[in-house]
Amino acid sequence: MTEAASPAPAAPPSPPAGLRVTALAGGVGGARFLRGLLAALRSASAPDLRAAEVTVVGNTADDITLHGLRVCPDLDSVMYTLGGGIDDERGWGRSDETSGVADELAAYGQQPTWFTLGDKDIATHLVRTRLLREGLPLSEVTARLCERWRPGVRLLPMTDDVVETHVDLAPVDPAAHAGEAGGRRVHFQEWWVRLHAKVPALRIEPLGAAAARPAPGVLEALSDADVVVLPPSNPVVSIGTILQVPGVRDALRATTAPVVGVSPVIGGAPVRGMADACLAALGVPSTAEAVAGLYADFLDGWLVAEADAFEPGGAHGGRLRVLPRPLLMSGPDATAALARAALDLGLALSPAGASRT
Ligand code: GDP
Ligand code: CA
Repeated sequence: MTEAASPAPAAPPSPPAGLRVTALAGGVGGARFLRGLLAALRSASAPDLRAAEVTVVGNTADDITLHGLRVCPDLDSVMYTLGGGIDDERGWGRSDETSGVADELAAYGQQPTWFTLGDKDIATHLVRTRLLREGLPLSEVTARLCERWRPGVRLLPMTDDVVETHVDLAPVDPAAHAGEAGGRRVHFQEWWVRLHAKVPALRIEPLGAAAARPAPGVLEALSDADVVVLPPSNPVVSIGTILQVPGVRDALRATTAPVVGVSPVIGGAPVRGMADACLAALGVPSTAEAVAGLYADFLDGWLVAEADAFEPGGAHGGRLRVLPRPLLMSGPDATAALARAALDLGLALSPAGASRT
């Protein structure tokens, strides 16, 4: 008996193509949201959501050199938070941290003493500084640091070039501001950390941004995404600085992916922060509607608190969908639900993704 030619073995089912999600992020607010996003994706029932690949474009305009060490606070907040090394109470820095090195530096009278560098954190900055001095670009250095932390996202700095936000302080009465007379330009960190943004800012400028080039992969991550998400990061000194890297804003305008965001302002005030002081420097009111206005040329969906719902005006070209949702990242479940709501809004606005749940 001759055997019939056996049929070609059935090809194994190919794994589902994961949804490509790209997020822009600052530090604490961005990192907490991203942790919720990863939790929401991991618990999703749709295979393409469970297999999603998340790329994070991180703000580097907060970066500062202290005691000869290059510090990237926002990249580290994302890396530590997603990698399980964050001090959850503070929202930044390493867990179980000590301050032996900072104490010794203070004993030597070394300035500044207002920026906290914990011992474990200093190890990160030592590795980063050494690799940068060896000539590696920040994007490669960040990838190396992430080999340890495995944050579950591809973390890209917005640029490999040096960008540092500086702030022009208004002149103020030194008696009312711990000796600070204002009327000078300081690094963003000095305004934020030492002065708690209490001295009004006349101007906030990311020095170096105009000449910066997006880091490798940044523009592609925006153009090739299925959904672009803006976490509730500071609209001026986190998202705003990323948007000033040439090419980023154009890529957001041009991408076919819906761009959805979460308002960092609830009931007319930023949550746990001083973002209103940044918005004031731009002459922008601290409202969810005004923050959406900063993104008017590319924003498709905007999650706001119930009390902040508004009818989008003509600046959004009739494109913006405003959706009220609970916006407080009060714990892991609430944060995952918020991230899921942002994702769902993005999928609903994407013709290809409307059927994914
Ligand atoms: P930073 O770089 O550490 O300042 O962090 P980000 O720029 O990423 O995020 C700071 C912003 O997060 C602040 O302006 C807050 O308004 C916002 N934020 C913090 N917690 C919450 C929250 O629970 N819900 C919302 N919607 N926004 C929050
Ligand atoms: Ca920051």
